[in-house]
Amino acid sequence: MSVHPGPSLLVDNIGELVTNEPYGEAGPLGIRRRAALLVEDGRIAWLGPAKYAPAADGRIDADGAAVLPGFVDSHSHLVFAGDRAPEFAARMAGQPYTGGGIRTTVGATRAASDDTLRANVSRLRIEALRQGTTTIEIKSGYGLSVTDEARSLRIAGEFSTETTFLGAHVVPPEYADRPDDYVSLVCGPMLRAALPYARWIDVFCERGAFDADHARAILTVGQAAGLGLRLHANQLGPGPGVQLAVELGAASADHCTHLTDADVDALASTTVDWTSGSETTTVATLLPGAEFSTRSPYPDARRLLDARVTVALATDCNPGSSYTSSMPFCIALAVREMGMTPAEAVWAATAGGARALRRDDVGVLRRGARADLTILDAPSYLHLAYRPGVPLIRQVLHNGVPQCQ
Ligand SMILES: [Zn+2]
Repeated sequence: MSVHPGPSLLVDNIGELVTNEPYGEAGPLGIRRRAALLVEDGRIAWLGPAKYAPAADGRIDADGAAVLPGFVDSHSHLVFAGDRAPEFAARMAGQPYTGGGIRTTVGATRAASDDTLRANVSRLRIEALRQGTTTIEIKSGYGLSVTDEARSLRIAGEFSTETTFLGAHVVPPEYADRPDDYVSLVCGPMLRAALPYARWIDVFCERGAFDADHARAILTVGQAAGLGLRLHANQLGPGPGVQLAVELGAASADHCTHLTDADVDALASTTVDWTSGSETTTVATLLPGAEFSTRSPYPDARRLLDARVTVALATDCNPGSSYTSSMPFCIALAVREMGMTPAEAVWAATAGGARALRRDDVGVLRRGARADLTILDAPSYLHLAYRPGVPLIRQVLHNGVPQCQ
């Protein structure tokens, strides 16, 4: 309990409150009707039936609308310069996506000033916030030199505590004919320079990027240095990424577009055991913006959910393969194209993202959780998928503070 509590704020007259705290008949989203919640010191101090709402210094009238936890976008690449709209146009005219365009952004990012990079991250962070995202993971990966990776992470850290070192995004041009030397650089000087600014380490494990041996070497040394593990896995074709993520206890295997039955079984084997409270789940983070933007087949979320794999949804926001910061857009795609119900998609975009970041203070609305929430311009969370492309985020509270809309 704080000795000097700040002003309290009551969000009142909530028609449908998504808590992600299952109880009774409330279903997995833990829905409460005619509810209110009280915010104090950036946390939720109370929630319950509106008729029992306590007094507060300030009040927001939700006017019968739906309120849900702020979105947790657990996968983005916001530190870059330039854009690649012509590449997108070429793909839409029939050219395939290979991942090679990453090098275009590396060149632009290296040439950019700190201020340019910072302004771009800031713009995208605000854009995401306006669409309801209150937690966002940000990766490096367009610097690919010791100094450029460190500064990318330093700038990312100005906007999020969920920062990920992705020096192993692609092998940069100057190392094209000696990838082993680049892996040594990533595992040595680049990792040391990144460490002060990173919570996670990630590898793009894919044909044309890094193979399983390289990925294992990089992740193992990162883990030994104290970083949590994430992995870009099985995006462009079948591969070893998912199995490697599970083997190493990664928090998340991201993309999961091309999976064998053994991959699904491996992910399912990590499903959290709540009785023991084990924190070894490898979440399958699905990034439908990438399939949309590369006109590729979507991952089969239904198959994963039916196998009881924990699923998260994230944007993969980046200038090449998924230039969207919109979690509502990803929810709509997941429902329409990936076999998810609206409830499953909303859970995956909030609580699922939190699991992928191994956080229990976000993605959920309960006493003591961060007061990160969105008030919709709609009576139900269903409208996020039912009314795609419509700006339904009326208000966002981040750490209990109302944000400008
Ligand atoms: Zn990515």
